[in-house]
Amino acid sequence: MSHPCLRCGACCATYRVAFHWLETDAAGGITPAALTEHLDSHRVAMHGTNAYEPRCKSLVGEVGVAAHCGIYAVRPSPCHDLKPAWEDGTPSPQCDKARLRHGMPPLTPADFP
Ligand code: SF4
Ligand code: SF4
Repeated sequence: MSHPCLRCGACCATYRVAFHWLETDAAGGITPAALTEHLDSHRVAMHGTNAYEPRCKSLVGEVGVAAHCGIYAVRPSPCHDLKPAWEDGTPSPQCDKARLRHGMPPLTPADFP
């Protein structure tokens, strides 16, 4: 059974992914600055996420079918912080909300046998 995130991608198409510009490779971090856009004096956002209908341009595939992060190893901190619900035995309201927004039921512990 594949990881539920690989059949989802909803969080990457729900939230504005904003983080400190020091995380970008232009400032010694790892996330490609070329994949971000300026937000304010301290923050950038992943391209495509600062929108009324967000969808990170680094998301590959179709939400709810087959999707994955195209820059997984160098994704920024908000993407590390958003955990799939119940993967580690705890709920994740952000995961639940994103899935519901895209017509998918929230994960349950049964998704992580
Ligand atoms: S919404 Fe939840 S299940 Fe879907 S990709 Fe994000 S963390 Fe994974
Ligand atoms: S960088 Fe990757 S994990 Fe983060 S929002 Fe974009 S596609 Fe999703």
